[in-house]
Amino acid sequence: MIRLAIQKSGRLSEDSLNLIRECGISFVSSTYKLKTEATNFPLEILFLRDDDIPGYVQDGVADLGIVGQNVLVEAGFPALEVEALGFSKCRLSLAVPRGEEYSSVASLQGKNIATSYPEILGRYLAGEGVQAQLHTISGSVEIAPSIGLADAICDIVSSGSTLLGNGLREVETVFRSEAVLIANQNLGAEKQHLLEKLRFRMQAVRRARRNKYIILNAPVAALDQVKALLPGIKSPTVTKLAEEGWVSVQSVVNEDDFWHVTDQLKAVGAEGLLVLPIEKMIS
Ligand code: ATP
Ligand code: ZN
Repeated sequence: MIRLAIQKSGRLSEDSLNLIRECGISFVSSTYKLKTEATNFPLEILFLRDDDIPGYVQDGVADLGIVGQNVLVEAGFPALEVEALGFSKCRLSLAVPRGEEYSSVASLQGKNIATSYPEILGRYLAGEGVQAQLHTISGSVEIAPSIGLADAICDIVSSGSTLLGNGLREVETVFRSEAVLIANQNLGAEKQHLLEKLRFRMQAVRRARRNKYIILNAPVAALDQVKALLPGIKSPTVTKLAEEGWVSVQSVVNEDDFWHVTDQLKAVGAEGLLVLPIEKMIS
């Protein structure tokens, strides 16, 4: 049995639960319960505040956890990270009141900065050779300048609309974060084996999310070009169509390249493109 801690309720919760489910692990979750046991994998899931997760994993109360890198690094345990998970991407940024003059980080010399991330920000400012007074507050950081508590803030930004609504301007990115799987560093052999099994499944889910299955028809004359555009995992599958001079090609394409590749496929004469999601991808 291995214990995984995830956020009880917040921005990481749903994606964490979905990832576990997509790994083929079934469990009953209820928002009232603090833990649940999977029915088809030796896994126990604990529901905690995200800030508590790194410490619990470090101490071995939980074997594994899913948290944002921002929380992990702030807690001082970056070495626990074992796998980046690709969701909850956000950045930690410095922001100043919109009317305020700002040319570089040096403009923050001697200023008061409100943040929930004194460790990460402190290290960043030290690296830039800037000395400032950091005021640690745990929430609603973005209102600090308007109530006279600080000259600037450092907080999580995803779209920037919260900053805008509070009359702030984002000026520097201090840290980029995404959700990560973390693990205690002294897992026994059995738990280590379960961790590897979980990682293998998480990697397969992630790879599948990043790729699409594509099926199309192409004139035989264009086959070499189509093959070059769709190298797939090993090579594309090519079958003859009933219509003379045409083939059907099946392959896998990376989501990032998808639209670019599609345009080129059409340009060389491909028709009838079908694109399907992939559930798992095992290399
Ligand atoms: P808790 O009550 O568990 O302490 P919280 O209020 O500290 O929750 P959330 O706001 O739910 O935390 O955010 C959890 C994590 O999600 C953050 O630490 C960060 O890694 C990530 N995150 C925060 N804001 C965003 C965002 N706007 N977009 C994407 N990810 C985000
Ligand atoms: Zn939190």
